[in-house]
Amino acid sequence: RAKEGGRNCVRFFEKSMQEAAEARFNLERELKQAIEAERDLTLYYQPQVDASGRLTGTEALLRWRHPGQGMISPAVFIPVAEDTSLILPIGRWVLRQACHFLAHTDTHKHALRMSVNVSPRQFHQADFVSQVHQAVRDAGIPPERLTLELTEGVVIEDIQSTVLKMRELKDLGVRLSIDDFGTGYSSLSYLKRMPVDELKIDRSFIQDLSTDSNDAALVEAILSVCRHLRVSVMAEGVETEEQLHFLRARRCDGYQGYYFGMPMPGETLLQSLGD
Ligand code: C2E
Ligand code: MG
Ligand code: MG
Ligand code: MG
Repeated sequence: RAKEGGRNCVRFFEKSMQEAAEARFNLERELKQAIEAERDLTLYYQPQVDASGRLTGTEALLRWRHPGQGMISPAVFIPVAEDTSLILPIGRWVLRQACHFLAHTDTHKHALRMSVNVSPRQFHQADFVSQVHQAVRDAGIPPERLTLELTEGVVIEDIQSTVLKMRELKDLGVRLSIDDFGTGYSSLSYLKRMPVDELKIDRSFIQDLSTDSNDAALVEAILSVCRHLRVSVMAEGVETEEQLHFLRARRCDGYQGYYFGMPMPGETLLQSLGD
């Protein structure tokens, strides 16, 4: 009887594995359709402000309105896209879309910046630099208004070739930022070798600033090193007044988080610029 139970258990396990594989396969198929039809994918924009609270730019954040499942978080579908190389057409679309939107904001007489997330696979494509060049040129925006957010995962692949490509991008005039800093394997010493304009301190360090003295010390150290290296610092996930005070007292350059605004549709952002 024990043997029979074991068999049932295996069968159950196989079934749930199969279901998970099917769900994943469907997600892939639907994501492929969405990007091919340029349908159901949309960009939201989250405000970025300076120490005085003035709007300086926005980060483009991808959203997928799934026909049956509602909004699916990029935290769920970006990893799928990365595994299947769907990230390549998606990334190209995001880049072009964000640049075009930035050109729109200019009619409102705001010289905003636009930050765009770039996945490691996207960055390491052979023609990535020319993709960026084309997107900027076609939208007619000044290149220095575009910031590419790279994660530490980009960097660890091969520092030599990564730095070379970063220089090519810098030659185009775009800005480079290291996203989610502190969560990966890279260290502050990399900043000396890389032509980086900005570093974004990961939300997990900002979250407990007022209660965790280790996080506070770390954030202080990052701010101090970056000031010496002339790298601008953006704090991610600022949600409270206390966090803002802590960061402002230590002269953090940029702020992004729910305290200042959620990611919002382009229309909503344009409306807020209008008045
Ligand atoms: P990220 O680039 O670090 O983006 C910041 C994430 O933190 C966003 O989540 C944003 O909505 C969220 N966030 C901002 N402020 C706060 C806050 O005060 N509190 C909290 N709890 N969260 C806050 P989102 O939009 O779900 O995106 C998740 C991740 O997905 C992004 O992290 C980025 O790594 C990736 N992603 C999003 N759009 C794209 C894209 O177009 N291309 C690529 N390659 N990745 C993308
Ligand atoms: Mg980002
Ligand atoms: Mg981040
Ligand atoms: Mg991220």
